[in-house]
Amino acid sequence: MRYAETGYNLEVDLSTGNIERVETDPKLTELYLGGLGTNAKIMWDRVPPETEPFSPDNLLIFSAGLLGGTPAVGANRTMITSISPQTQFMAYSMMGGFFASELKYAGYDKVIIRGKSPKLVYLYINDDKVELRDASHLAGKGSVETQEQIKKELGDMRIHVAAIGLAGENRVFFASIEQGRSSASRQGLGAVMGDKGLKAIAVRGKKDISIARPEEFMPLCDEVLRYAMWRQENPVPGMIPILAILGSPQEMLECDEKWHTENFSWGNARTRRKTFWNPEIEELWTDAQLKARKRLISCYNCPLKCGATITSPNEGAYMMKCFSKLTYTMAAYVDDLNFGFDIAKRATEYGIDGFSGPQVMAFAVELLEAGILTEKDFEGCPTDNQGRFYWLLDRIVRREGIGDVLADGTYWAAKKIGNGAEEFAHNNIRKQEQAPLKLGSVNPLYYLMYCINEKGNITQIEGQFPQAPYADPKDREEFCKDWFQVPDDRFKEYFMKWEPKGEFAMPYYPGIKECCEIVDWMERMHYIDDACGVCTGLSAFHLKPPYHIHNYPLLISAATGMDIDEAELTKISKRNRQLVRANNVRRGYRRADDTPPEDHWRKRLPEYEKQIMDAMCEFKGWTLDGVPTKETLQELDLGFVAEDFEQRGIYKDGED
Ligand code: SF4
Repeated sequence: MRYAETGYNLEVDLSTGNIERVETDPKLTELYLGGLGTNAKIMWDRVPPETEPFSPDNLLIFSAGLLGGTPAVGANRTMITSISPQTQFMAYSMMGGFFASELKYAGYDKVIIRGKSPKLVYLYINDDKVELRDASHLAGKGSVETQEQIKKELGDMRIHVAAIGLAGENRVFFASIEQGRSSASRQGLGAVMGDKGLKAIAVRGKKDISIARPEEFMPLCDEVLRYAMWRQENPVPGMIPILAILGSPQEMLECDEKWHTENFSWGNARTRRKTFWNPEIEELWTDAQLKARKRLISCYNCPLKCGATITSPNEGAYMMKCFSKLTYTMAAYVDDLNFGFDIAKRATEYGIDGFSGPQVMAFAVELLEAGILTEKDFEGCPTDNQGRFYWLLDRIVRREGIGDVLADGTYWAAKKIGNGAEEFAHNNIRKQEQAPLKLGSVNPLYYLMYCINEKGNITQIEGQFPQAPYADPKDREEFCKDWFQVPDDRFKEYFMKWEPKGEFAMPYYPGIKECCEIVDWMERMHYIDDACGVCTGLSAFHLKPPYHIHNYPLLISAATGMDIDEAELTKISKRNRQLVRANNVRRGYRRADDTPPEDHWRKRLPEYEKQIMDAMCEFKGWTLDGVPTKETLQELDLGFVAEDFEQRGIYKDGED
């Protein structure tokens, strides 16, 4: 009997229309848990490095996590994996909401899509009944509209639908997959779905998930819930509002945007407006937010309500959460938050990533102002900031005129446009737009996180360790008192010693060894979340979260019956992490790809940065070129990766 997981995947070949329910090997659960871990293994086994993102051989995997659908609070993430058209590396993007648990209740851990459908279709999963249905009448429809229409057509409003909009159909490199109150936004997975001719996946499940030791598991889940509620009532003192409490950044709850609007950069990640937030703006923005926000909403089995239904007067109702509240407004240099709420509705229907989308548009505006793009490229475009953004959004998702070039993102567009455009694509890591942040002196902890984070998204690696020290040692002591989430007391010592100024301050404290350990801990927690399908808003993204390295093994053991301890869970997370890197190394990824945008910090320390990255390579068990060594791989039962690297001459490349 299989516990927590269903033990079955759904294999769908869109080229032939063949659908199979395939039993999975329990050994894979022991080695990789599930979610991102088993996705990475499938990608390794079945997607050779020569595979192009838009090849029928590329897979698109929708995976619930190992704890998805169980009573574990917030275990509702869907991990979607494929090869990204933008980065050309393995992409993984998470969405919350209700899809993953529904998939588990239908009796599947994953849906693995291969091939390409000759006409637009959607996949309908209703427990054991699974079929491909014609979606030609949904062509060009918005992602939210599509979800509603499918539910109506199938006569069941409890179906959960993941769908693409026009951007996905037109293979925009930053197209998202939207689902109810959540979105798999980054790395262009919507484009892969569109390329396969798949408009949506609709799922309805009515089966049970079995738990190995429910009498142990339920009290642990209760404890997580109790602690999460306690944390909401007891914010961490001295932190900005969104980091003081739990949740995916509580942007829908919080109206105070002083920190974001003055620290993040406006336009094409260009300008910090250090005095932007004043009482007048605060009043206007608070009013706009409270009027637009209809109600706060949660994902499946979570009390934290990080999302909101937004009713924008001009564009109708939709769902929003997190930083997309600000990205359009700030990228367009518009001082009215209503603009952000309005344009985000259209962008959600089109299905585009709220990080990359606005930056691509701001980049185009800069190119026009610099004379690299011309009025001819912008024929018919309004001249005001808001009008220009709407115009660009419509062109990009339709791939019309200059929109066709911009639809590939800033890196590829700059290459095509030439004439110095490359310098304006200044905020990328591995060809993907980053959070619009440009700061003063290099911060070694963040330097390392930007470098090694293979998702290419800073929020998917940071979290457990405070971003800055408290000035008063008494506050540090107070913080450490109930900081039981640390893997061991060394991390408390590092924090106790850390000062805002002087000998124990950035950039040389925490030191190189400490930085490697801290970053490794933070990353490890994200990999555990992504295998278990737990939302990082209750775990890795936060200080003092309810899920941590001490209770995770207990939860996983009670749910699955596998009996793993902290050491074993750490080993599994390392294995998953190395396997994601291995997939990318085989596609040509090397240390040179581990590079933050050059202008991310004004003041850089090239020699020191090199030293800490050298140390990180050693710490992770990589060659200095960023390739996992044979020894590292063998220790983690990944000898087959080492063999493959040898056959391909990858180690020789590294030594060269
Ligand atoms: S913390 Fe927020 S984003 Fe995460 S599961 Fe709960 S409601 Fe959803």
